[in-house]
Amino acid sequence: MRSLSILGATGSIGRSTLDLVKRAPGSWRVHALTANRDVDSLAESAVAVRAERAVVADDAAYGALKERLWGTGIEAAAGSAAIEEAAEADVVMAAIVGAAGLPSTLRAVRRGATVALANKETLVCAGDLVNREVERSKATLLPVDSEHNAIFQCFDHARPERVARVILTCSGGPFRNADMATMRAATPAQAVKHPVWSMGGKISVDSATLMNKGLELIEAFHLFPISADQLSVVIHPQSIIHSMVEYVDGSVLAQMGTPDMRTPISYALAWPDRMETPCERLDLVKVGRLEFFEPDPERFPALRLAWAALRAGGDRPAVLNAANEIAVAAFLAGRLPFLGIAAVVEDTLDRLPVSRLFSIADVIHVDGAARDYARTAVEAHAI
Ligand code: NAD
Ligand code: MG
Repeated sequence: MRSLSILGATGSIGRSTLDLVKRAPGSWRVHALTANRDVDSLAESAVAVRAERAVVADDAAYGALKERLWGTGIEAAAGSAAIEEAAEADVVMAAIVGAAGLPSTLRAVRRGATVALANKETLVCAGDLVNREVERSKATLLPVDSEHNAIFQCFDHARPERVARVILTCSGGPFRNADMATMRAATPAQAVKHPVWSMGGKISVDSATLMNKGLELIEAFHLFPISADQLSVVIHPQSIIHSMVEYVDGSVLAQMGTPDMRTPISYALAWPDRMETPCERLDLVKVGRLEFFEPDPERFPALRLAWAALRAGGDRPAVLNAANEIAVAAFLAGRLPFLGIAAVVEDTLDRLPVSRLFSIADVIHVDGAARDYARTAVEAHAI
């Protein structure tokens, strides 16, 4: 039986993964579940799937976790080293949000594990370095992000030179048709109310600014043997086609399904096989029509910033990501207006000199510097 760890088990992706694990009893030995500090939900899930260990990142939550697990036989642990050790499993679901997921994802990669990758920020800030480690350790990276999972399913891995274009679909988010005045006044509650997907707070805001699609372009660039010029984005509000691969002969392969993250998660868990899921079946007649639009660069500058960061390479994607994390947190805390998010990211990119990334230590340094400057930029754009 393969062992499985779920990093970020209390989040949206973590809970969907746990749902599938619970539906397939006896398929996994659950090594560890981790969370930032949500002790109750973590302990409850650890008991439900008989995990060997439950780990909180926040040391201050250790006492409460130990108490909650008393008498269950489940080991409690806390701190960043314990989060990294949780990656000691055959299959690791990397579902921590943000660059905070980098050390544990990297640990799983270096061990040569099968890594089900939801944590896109890891590839955005350290894609080249992570790929180098994947090559060295022979780890298997399986994309969980629905677009990349779709591309993975449609991509002819044996003949990458026959791929002409990769087309990422994008729902358009809650402000797809909003005017600038509405976006200027957008509240966190409006921004996280996604029309199709139910997700964690940070990625929901990223979906509203379209920064999520920008991060996904960079993620796709690192996951597949393609150039930036082969990537494109199309708005598809129904979120039925999860992405497409176009070949040199004009054939376009699409992966479709109802929007439910358990489909791509199940594919990563069962790969190269497939497994049953309870996901609603696709009824195309009920969906009626599939629409496609060009993204609007005026209202969604985040997408332009991400394109530029991808083309420039070096530390630019790491700076973009770090500044975005600070700006999104400030927006969610009510300290920054919605349109301030892209403004903070742009200011940070303009301010920090371009550098190259030779090591993970460089990534951590650039990430820290970008966060420091972004905090100042948040003050400048504050409400
Ligand atoms: P979420 O906010 O719902 O959950 C995040 C998880 O990470 C939680 O378990 C939280 O406790 C943990 N965490 C947060 N900060 C941490 C820290 N500093 N150290 C350790 N653990 C920490 O997020 P989510 O929506 O599940 O997204 C997780 C990742 O998956 C993100 O990278 C996101 O971009 C990606 N993703 C999510 C979806 C989705 O549908 N939710 C789709 C595609 C990709
Ligand atoms: Mg996605």
